[in-house]
Amino acid sequence: MRRKLVAGNWKMNGSLAANAALLADVKADFASEACDVAVCVPAPYLAQCQALLDGSPIALGAQDVSKHEAGAYTGEVSAAMLLEFGCRYVIVGHSERRAAFGESDELVADKAARAIEAGLVPIVCVGETLAQREAGQTDTVIGAQIDVVLHRLLSGTVDRIVVAYEPIWAIGTGKTATPQMAQDVHAMLRKRIQAVDAQAANVVRILYGGSMKPDNAAELMAMPDIDGGLVGGAALKAKDFLAIACDV
Ligand code: PGA
Repeated sequence: MRRKLVAGNWKMNGSLAANAALLADVKADFASEACDVAVCVPAPYLAQCQALLDGSPIALGAQDVSKHEAGAYTGEVSAAMLLEFGCRYVIVGHSERRAAFGESDELVADKAARAIEAGLVPIVCVGETLAQREAGQTDTVIGAQIDVVLHRLLSGTVDRIVVAYEPIWAIGTGKTATPQMAQDVHAMLRKRIQAVDAQAANVVRILYGGSMKPDNAAELMAMPDIDGGLVGGAALKAKDFLAIACDV
């Protein structure tokens, strides 16, 4: 049995005051033994959130990491830096970074490999656009995205990733993939993992992301290959985030 993971993706939201209020509310009513829970926060707030989450079962994550170890890379944040602030997870290859910052499958794979090498758990995001889905290209596009990552990782390390399937047309739109649509993609992703590492295919958690809300989370997570959620908008409201994370 894979333990479920619910990770909040705050994106570029928050402030010192808003973060303190949100995490105080989340911690006050947190009652989730059944699954792992994390919040992925903007890099400048890692120190604040690390302190606020001290002693809590909620893990900390970042939203991006450099593929480089250290040096002359202005603006980049290294995996070692994230570890110093208590990060366990880091999102890599979110569709917003692929689309707005030109991140390629190869760069995403390098970032995932760097994260693993440093001891972080990369949450590797994949997903198709609406045009790709309507053209029947979903499996081809997502299969190619995940294969580049799987082939980049050192053998024996594939079981250290988390995958997040996020259909781009469902992100921040209020449109959610039906549980069956998501399950079909998750099963395909697990087959891809199985092709490179059969043991890893059983343990790698594949999250769904894209307008996950309290009223659709349970039915999505009830599907056999959906092992949790990557939650954007709803993670900014303590009540909604808790309803998703604690009702698993
Ligand atoms: P959303 O975002 O839940 O607001 O759709 C999910 C994500 O982009 O990770």
